[in-house]
Amino acid sequence: MARTPHPDTYYADIKRKFAQERDLRLAYRPEGTQQFTSELSGELSKYTSDPYGGAITPREPIRDTVEVLFIGGGFSALLTSARLREKGVASIRIVERGGDVGGTWYWNRYPGAACDVVSYDYLPLLDEMGYVPKHHYSRGPEIFAHCQAIARRYDLYELAVFQTTVTSTVWSEAEQMWHIETDRGDHMRAQFVICANGTLSKPKLSRIAGMETFAGHSFHTSRWDYDYTGADLSNLKDKVVGIIGTGATAVQAVPALGENAKELYVFQRTPSSIDVRDDWPTDPEWAAKRKPGWQAKRRARALADPELTDAQRARLAAETLEEKIQRQERGNIDYMMRIHERIEATVHDKATAESLKPWYMFMCKRPCFHNDYLPTFNRPNVHLVDTHGEGVTQINEQGPVVGGKQYTLDLLIYATGFEVQKTGIYNRIVGKGGLDLEDKYRDGIRTVLGIHTHGFPNLFIMGGYQASFQFNLTDMLQTQGDHIAACIDYVRANGYRTMDPTFEAEDWWVNEVIAHRGKTSRNEDCTPGYYNFEGESQRRQDGNYNGGFKQYFQHQGAVRARMQENFVFDRSNG
Ligand SMILES: Cc1cc2nc3c(=O)[nH]c(=O)nc-3n(C[C@H](O)[C@H](O)[C@H](O)COP(=O)(O)OP(=O)(O)OC[C@H]3O[C@@H](n4cnc5c(N)ncnc54)[C@H](O)[C@@H]3O)c2cc1C
Repeated sequence: MARTPHPDTYYADIKRKFAQERDLRLAYRPEGTQQFTSELSGELSKYTSDPYGGAITPREPIRDTVEVLFIGGGFSALLTSARLREKGVASIRIVERGGDVGGTWYWNRYPGAACDVVSYDYLPLLDEMGYVPKHHYSRGPEIFAHCQAIARRYDLYELAVFQTTVTSTVWSEAEQMWHIETDRGDHMRAQFVICANGTLSKPKLSRIAGMETFAGHSFHTSRWDYDYTGADLSNLKDKVVGIIGTGATAVQAVPALGENAKELYVFQRTPSSIDVRDDWPTDPEWAAKRKPGWQAKRRARALADPELTDAQRARLAAETLEEKIQRQERGNIDYMMRIHERIEATVHDKATAESLKPWYMFMCKRPCFHNDYLPTFNRPNVHLVDTHGEGVTQINEQGPVVGGKQYTLDLLIYATGFEVQKTGIYNRIVGKGGLDLEDKYRDGIRTVLGIHTHGFPNLFIMGGYQASFQFNLTDMLQTQGDHIAACIDYVRANGYRTMDPTFEAEDWWVNEVIAHRGKTSRNEDCTPGYYNFEGESQRRQDGNYNGGFKQYFQHQGAVRARMQENFVFDRSNG
């Protein structure tokens, strides 16, 4: 039965409540992104060390030269390498901080880890690998295994270096080469460097007073300590466990923790929106019928215009901008209220259900999809600690203190996420004339397509700011990988040595990014989260390109169609 339309006051009241909840959080954390730290040294370094790679294998420092060097070994490096191999590039090295390829899927092994995008779209290179994922949403181990299979198929293990962090990447004008130094004493050279260091790969922690004093056990979700929990979490049966954070990771991990811990306390600042997870095992008959190119067809859909009838087109054309914004806003609010209804129907305790309701527009925070998270709060051993927007601000030897109440824990898990889309993590990048990339970006990020930056020849950036943002990130990363491989191929095919974007091309792109930012007040209206830089304003060009994925893809093609105008090419051999 169709619902009766709501009066204007209904939407106005909800928007008022959204604004109140946002303001409450902004007042608690006016410092924006500075409320977190990802510089985890000293006492905090244990939250970033690798529990999976085993003892570091001793080896001699490497002093050699390769053609292409990737900083990072996740999907960005793997899907770009596949394209480079197709173009005949033989000398490819991955340098990776972890003990294997996989990136996100190497590090994130927490119980319940899985992708939130349909796996047939999310896992790259399915056509090339002849692989069909086992579930509609793949689990972490399957995605990690897929990464390893790609590395084997494209011979990427041969030159790869693991348990090694790139610490400096410096351009030598004399040699027309990048010099790469690592924390293992290596000094390598590469003609092309691709920063594939990840959009969400450096763990971050909230700055909470006293966190170093906690006497129990603790770790970050991306460094899960299975020695402590047991592989099946059975060691937790006599443990009181706390988890700080209720974002996408916690939503996946909490059901298993609730099932296995003696007591579980979930410390919440802002709830996630949790919709149904429409998961199923892949039908083997369906899988067998996939013809070569089936994934490419699905990927092409992400770039296609929505299919509309003539009547729909006419209605949209007649709409004013104000009407369009209102229609979208109301659709968004209706969706969020359905999320609220799902909570009411699932969570028995009324106060807990109220606390779990997200009061913000859909997509203000990373949306989540899970069938077991909400029911977990019906377990007698699971307790939601609602900090009403403030977050945990104090931890002592026994555990967190919230609202004057002490929570005494054996284990405290930080599900506090990662630094977002930064280029050059753990690594200092220095281009022509000794210019540090951090210094270049100090007054605002400057790139072409988020991929090239003037004064840093033969350097390519993946997943950084000023690129398009897609909920299915691999759609976007694949276009970047294809573009980068095409650029490198162009340099090689024409006998050039280097390519460097012009200052003018960079100006054009920065203006394009600015032109598409801040067209609506959406970002400021949102509750703080990583999508809106925790409520920081004045970011101008320091964010993603919001002109649309299709437009971003077309811009990539347009940049390549005018290579000689957009780049300076050099033939000299240094
Ligand atoms: C838990 C989790 C779930 C996710 N789920 C989804 C999803 O469902 N859908 C989606 O689209 N996206 C998802 N993402 C985003 C995900 O990160 C991307 O989809 C994708 O895997 C990114 O690949 P990447 O290669 O760019 O980066 P990563 O996979 O992050 O790999 C980067 C690698 O670079 C290494 N590195 C960084 N700096 C250095 C250095 N200086 N020296 C050496 N190595 C370095 C890191 O150790 C890391 O392994 C998720 C992210 C997380 C954290």
